[in-house]
Amino acid sequence: MRTLLCCDEFDAYVKRRRILARTIVRAGFIAGIAFNMLFLLFDSWADLPLSQTLPLRATWSAVLLSGVLLTCIPRSHDGLAWMVGAAGCVGAWVMARITLMDTNTLRHVPGLITLFIAAVGMAPTIRSAAYVIALLVVVPTITLLAGGMEPVRVLEADAFLIMAALMCALVCHLLEQGQLRAFLAERALERRASTDALTGLANREHFFRRAEGELARRTRSGAALAVLMMDVDHFKHVNDTWGHDAGDRVLTAVAEQLRPHARETDVLARTGGEEFVLLAVGATLGDAVEIGERIRAAVGALRVSADPGAIPVTISVGCTTVAPDDTAIDPALKRADHALYQAKRQGRNRVMAAPTPPLEGTEVRGAALEEGGHRFL
Ligand code: GH3
Ligand code: MG
Ligand code: MG
Repeated sequence: MRTLLCCDEFDAYVKRRRILARTIVRAGFIAGIAFNMLFLLFDSWADLPLSQTLPLRATWSAVLLSGVLLTCIPRSHDGLAWMVGAAGCVGAWVMARITLMDTNTLRHVPGLITLFIAAVGMAPTIRSAAYVIALLVVVPTITLLAGGMEPVRVLEADAFLIMAALMCALVCHLLEQGQLRAFLAERALERRASTDALTGLANREHFFRRAEGELARRTRSGAALAVLMMDVDHFKHVNDTWGHDAGDRVLTAVAEQLRPHARETDVLARTGGEEFVLLAVGATLGDAVEIGERIRAAVGALRVSADPGAIPVTISVGCTTVAPDDTAIDPALKRADHALYQAKRQGRNRVMAAPTPPLEGTEVRGAALEEGGHRFL
């Protein structure tokens, strides 16, 4: 499965599968409790004394109920829920064993139903279902044989449990396949809706969605957040001289140059024709200028082959940071756009920075300054 999914997709898939597993186990436990209570009636019809059956059914129901409660607590430890699930399965097995020694086969139904559903929930792959089979069949078989039980009776009971376990494995496998297929289809659709078809970078819509999320995260953590707006210089001239196809190749090549400058947590998008935006998480204005300079140098070194010759490419960058009291990305984008406009006006192929406006009540310093060789508006 790891070969089908990339790393973060695999994690997302496992997370979703865990939610499904929890839901299935919870449903299994609830069904187990309901059947347990219902089958108290069958116990009494089978003339079993209530003093014998009620403690067993009540204890088992209590174990299952704690499993239900655990799976309902959002942040509860899954391992604990699985352990209770395992206890539920063992309870189911004990019940099945007891009843298979009896003639009243109906009495093992709640046990098997819980066993079946909990095992499906606990073993969402065919391999882990095999472990369940081993656990539920082989270990108790050895115990019973060692305890001196007639081998024929043990095998008879095992055949029944193996059938149930194999059915579990089959259902697990089908569930897993179905879920994986649906997950892959959904992911492909999501990716297509959030990706720019030409460059493979994020598209405008995705940029704004992610920016919103990063702003909310930043409000909680107070971390720095920088915006870099980039625009290819004289791109119309590229189209006019070398044709639209060559223009497209330039855009793809520029995107490839930008990609290494975005970290995994950053958002890099193509927001318009020859316009790109980078949301640099944790970057200060100084960091943003540095990133902008590296990008400018990388794009400036590009030579896209064309007929005739090679296409020289340069890019202008405007950057700023999101103000502490900004609740939307737009003000920062406006400032970065203004800085970009200044970079164009001052001759292109340069990085300009617009400082973040100070919080209200803070003293305002001079309007234009120069720092570390870079121009600040
Ligand atoms: P400046 O240096 O001021 O940015 O000038 P410019 O020529 O780059 O800017 P302008 O906005 O005048 O031209 C942008 C051109 O980009 C115009 C448009 O036809 C072209 N364009 C927009 N989208 C695409 C695209 O997907 N592929 C190609 N090849 N060209 C595109
Ligand atoms: Mg433009
Ligand atoms: Mg341009």
